[in-house]
Amino acid sequence: MNVAIVGGGIVGLTTALQLNSDIRNCHVNIFAANYDDVVSYTAAGLFRVGHSYAGPSEEITKKWIKDSYEYYNNISNNYEAIHCGVKQSDAYMFANSSPSVVQNPLMESIVPLYRKVTDDELNMVGKKWKYGSYFETLIIQCKYHLPWARNKLKEMGTKFMIKKLTTLKELVDNYDLIINCSGLGARELCNDKKVIPIRGQVERVQAPWIKTSFYGELDTYIIPGVDGTCTLGSTRNFESMRMEVCPHDVKSIRERCENLLPSLTKSVTLEYRVGLRPHRENGVRVNIERISNDHRKAIVVHNYGHGGYGVTTAPGTAKYAVELARDFHKSSSAKL
Ligand SMILES: Cc1cc2nc3c(=O)[nH]c(=O)nc-3n(C[C@H](O)[C@H](O)[C@H](O)COP(=O)(O)OP(=O)(O)OC[C@H]3O[C@@H](n4cnc5c(N)ncnc54)[C@H](O)[C@@H]3O)c2cc1C
Repeated sequence: MNVAIVGGGIVGLTTALQLNSDIRNCHVNIFAANYDDVVSYTAAGLFRVGHSYAGPSEEITKKWIKDSYEYYNNISNNYEAIHCGVKQSDAYMFANSSPSVVQNPLMESIVPLYRKVTDDELNMVGKKWKYGSYFETLIIQCKYHLPWARNKLKEMGTKFMIKKLTTLKELVDNYDLIINCSGLGARELCNDKKVIPIRGQVERVQAPWIKTSFYGELDTYIIPGVDGTCTLGSTRNFESMRMEVCPHDVKSIRERCENLLPSLTKSVTLEYRVGLRPHRENGVRVNIERISNDHRKAIVVHNYGHGGYGVTTAPGTAKYAVELARDFHKSSSAKL
């Protein structure tokens, strides 16, 4: 089977790995407008979903998160963190507005430990918080994880094409199965106006003494990588496509993060980055569509719209997308 995957971010690469491991005798080519300047590289990389994350049903959403956790946990048990970009880690979430902010039923049923913080822990950070949770989780730093995934795919014979597609029909002549992992690009490529950008800005700092993630309200977070750096965030600007670093955001992120964790004042700035989260208003899209040109038909499995949680959930949606393709292939072969 000739398969084209559209997209060279975390979703595209993880889907290509899943495909190679689940379906024998398939030739996979990846098409992407860009492999280096993708939103996946801006992500902080904490394994966590927010309350808004949704697939087609609660059951499927939970399965995506569980499969993703198992996938990354397995990588972290088998490879050095500095090579694969994945490690086991822990995190605190704090809030003042409501205890529900720090509760997370989706995560609670999946990670090994999710508990209320103690009074001592509430006092440990820059200011006194009312509510808090502590949980064990994972870090996935795309700076290392995407090159690791690309190397694995190269060893498996996957080819990487640089091409911006204007329609998926461009691939129908040469491919039986197309998996569309184009993130925000799906807005134009599939004319899916439910996909909107949520702009986020972060600062990367050198802060090797920080080993635990800290999350406060207003999307304020400090997330350590696998290499002694930390990502400080963030902002959420709906439908903004502005890619320039905003100086007001620079100041506000620093101020909020230093209030949360005062030891950050001695951290050294490495870079500022902006990324557009590929949010889909009616949930992540993973489903099948048949397309054709004048003389040939192909199957498209869509896998896009992961919003602010694509690093966390890419392996789970990849597994689901490949299962949909395999089941479709089996049922159409049975009919012949
Ligand atoms: C500030 C910030 C912090 C974040 N932190 C986290 C976090 O801690 N945890 C988490 O889980 N997630 C986080 N995210 C979200 C995460 O980055 C995204 O959900 C994820 O990277 C989306 O991956 P993707 O592969 O769908 O998109 P992308 O990485 O954008 O990749 C899309 C690919 O499709 C290609 N493409 C698009 N259109 C076309 C076309 N027409 N033709 C050919 N190729 C095309 C692009 O070139 C690219 O290769 C964060 C995001 C931001 C902005």
